[in-house]
Amino acid sequence: MRVLHTFAEVREASVGITSLVPTMGYLHEGHLSLMATARGESDTVVVSLFVNPLQFNDQEDLARYPRDLDRDGRLAREAGVDLLFAPPLEVMYPMPALTRVTVSSLVTEMEGAYRPGHFEGVATVVAKLLAGLQPQRAYLGRKDAQQLAVIRRMAFDLSFPVDIVGGQTVRESDGLALSSRNVFLDRNERDRALGISRGLMAAADAFETGARDAHTLEGKVREMVTGAEVDYVTLADAHTAVPLSGVDRDAFLAVAARVGSTRLIDNVPFLAEPGGAISVDRGFRLSGPSILYGDRHAIDY
Ligand code: AMP
Repeated sequence: MRVLHTFAEVREASVGITSLVPTMGYLHEGHLSLMATARGESDTVVVSLFVNPLQFNDQEDLARYPRDLDRDGRLAREAGVDLLFAPPLEVMYPMPALTRVTVSSLVTEMEGAYRPGHFEGVATVVAKLLAGLQPQRAYLGRKDAQQLAVIRRMAFDLSFPVDIVGGQTVRESDGLALSSRNVFLDRNERDRALGISRGLMAAADAFETGARDAHTLEGKVREMVTGAEVDYVTLADAHTAVPLSGVDRDAFLAVAARVGSTRLIDNVPFLAEPGGAISVDRGFRLSGPSILYGDRHAIDY
């Protein structure tokens, strides 16, 4: 695996079908599962590591975002990644980015409402990565369902010749969705955070026994998220991010909640199949502790 720092170096080193897995680093099994899928479907796997200041509306969140290039390099190498693109700030933004990408109506709901400017920052940096690295595929997690919708629509609207591939959410063994921010949770906060995934699983149970309306499904989540401050619980269209009154198409039930000073998001997607059936995707659970914690186990096994 080579660690490269400029767009041109990556383009020159890429051969055949090239896939990009964009990340902000501090890798965990959610990132690794995207890399494994990319590895199976491409000749060159590029992982980008860049903590993008443009997408942080909260400067404290940016300052404390976990970073460890050596650790990320080792994990990416073990995952069979060919090229690790770790651009310094001056490479990504040699001049202030006067050109910004806004995916209008997709960014007004949910995360867009709570994090002004966030999706503009995400769409702008992903547009730069797609234009600068020219991958044929890009792999993004369904964990960030609204982000996936924003990037798909941006790539479509701007005619980027790239397939955007969505990957299943990877969860810790008790259901908590993996996030680099989980390292900030102490034991008590982690217990409280668990209500988020438990609530989503309760909603998935209700869905599987016939519930379809947003009010019922959102209510199941709210009942369980008692130890965290909820920003929103919303059932939304998977492609437009417009709130829905019931599950009748590709959709996702999304939650954002704050536990102490850490803000977490999670969702369960509902996938409409060609015959008309709709299934709920509960994600994938690890069987043991996540690599996020190193020797410090978040849960007792
Ligand atoms: P981040 O480093 O948090 O910006 O995430 C980089 C990519 O990994 C994004 O496409 C995320 O949606 C994806 N991702 C983050 N957490 C998970 C997870 N638990 N399972 C699957 N994908 C994830």
